[in-house]
Amino acid sequence: MLSTADAIFPPGRRALRQSGPMRALLDLVLPLECGGCRQPGTRWCVGCAQQLSSEPFALRTRVAGVPPAWSTGSYAGARRAMVIAAKERGRRDLTQEIGCAWALAVQRLREWGELDPAELTPLCLVPAPSRGRAARRRGGDPVLRAAHACALQLGAATAVWPALRVASGVRDSVGLSADQRVANLLGRVLVTERPGPSADATVVLVDDVLTTGATAAASTAALRLHGVRVHAVLVLAAVQ
Ligand SMILES: [Zn+2]
Repeated sequence: MLSTADAIFPPGRRALRQSGPMRALLDLVLPLECGGCRQPGTRWCVGCAQQLSSEPFALRTRVAGVPPAWSTGSYAGARRAMVIAAKERGRRDLTQEIGCAWALAVQRLREWGELDPAELTPLCLVPAPSRGRAARRRGGDPVLRAAHACALQLGAATAVWPALRVASGVRDSVGLSADQRVANLLGRVLVTERPGPSADATVVLVDDVLTTGATAAASTAALRLHGVRVHAVLVLAAVQ
């Protein structure tokens, strides 16, 4: 049975990631339990890895203005647990697994003709914005870290463009309806970095969880204003 990472990394390279001084250091600072099911003795168990390697599926978002959106799975089980562990419990190591899941999904979407092949166009991953203060409190933005992990695995023709920020005055979206989420974010997602991706790049907005699609819609609109077309949205987990 292949884990998510085994499916991409040759076995030798995978072994390198899980041994040596870095692993020993991680063992000292992190509790050794699965980030998906809290099984002791492993950071990411075989069962959870299997859950994470399922095929991406197309999403129907509840708000307008979202490009074709794909998820690697539902916001439940191992995915839900890993998102919470990465965001709230400082499990930075899990962002590697999220990156692996996205990389697998990108490969599938290329095979299905939903995304251009790497030989044809470069790929640009744009992490969905998270509010700065929340990200700092969590010890870094897991979506940004996962995007870098994904790019590393997909290879040289993949870039990460962390250009999106949420302006101040945006409320926490928990408890808001789809319409309220859209209103809350309207015009408040900002493009803060130049230059953008090359004109021929395939641009994919990545996020950990998609609930209504309001963040994806606001991000897509902000990028469009700056002449950047988002080709697809890819998330780890979708609330359905
Ligand atoms: Zn597990």
